[in-house]
Amino acid sequence: MRPTIPQVKSNATAIRNINTVFLDIDGVLMLGELPIPGGTATVKRLRSLKLRVVFVTNTTRKPRRMIHEQLIKLGFDVDINDVICPTVIARERIMRMKKPTAALFLNEDVFEDFEGLKISNTRAGAVVMGDLGDQFTPAVLDDIFRLVFSGSELIALQKNRYWRDAEGLRLDLGPYVAAVEYATGKMADVVGKPSPGFFRGLLTRYRVRPDNALMVGDDIESDVMGAQRLGIRSVLVKTGKYDLDFVKRTGIKPEGIIPSIADLCPILGIDT
Ligand SMILES: [Mg+2]
Repeated sequence: MRPTIPQVKSNATAIRNINTVFLDIDGVLMLGELPIPGGTATVKRLRSLKLRVVFVTNTTRKPRRMIHEQLIKLGFDVDINDVICPTVIARERIMRMKKPTAALFLNEDVFEDFEGLKISNTRAGAVVMGDLGDQFTPAVLDDIFRLVFSGSELIALQKNRYWRDAEGLRLDLGPYVAAVEYATGKMADVVGKPSPGFFRGLLTRYRVRPDNALMVGDDIESDVMGAQRLGIRSVLVKTGKYDLDFVKRTGIKPEGIIPSIADLCPILGIDT
């Protein structure tokens, strides 16, 4: 059932009529394994006003179950269904297809997030590409190419260009996705932040209008720009990966900037 919209007091940041708050997890609610002070109290206070609180993350290296367990351990009262990561958005996209069958080319640790879907690596409505790292061999890329070429939709959990490990810079998933896009002439549906596919998936799932939602994040591009492109207002926290110079350079302006999650209720005009 849709919660009623509380009349949150209007203030300088003009954040009003919100019924759903999307909270980024890493850098907003926790840093590494440690909680950021004020997180659990803020979630409780928002819920006491009948606001829906949804926990979102771009993590694709562990299943939703583990992200949920971690939140519970940190003291958050959260239902697993309100923990949303790219695999969840991908699964729901596929469930809405005429032929809900998927070919999974991703890290086996997250296979469980696709439970209930028919899995076939030869005939599938959709191909899902995730973090396979060294396993993206030419043979595997050919398999993906053939499936997409013959009609499967291409879904990518993210499209990052590169990352760094102990040996130096490495290709991330993006270049492999781009190879399949180039060969087939079809664009992937990217279901991680900041892609519109992620935020559209959230709005669809919760049946919420963009102007009734608020995104809170520490990443000016992934969280703020991604949300704003769909008309969702956003608040940037100065914890996690926040970097003032980078924020200035992007020219992106969130509706609010706060020191940490502990300051969210005051900026919304809610007494703590
Ligand atoms: Mg973050």
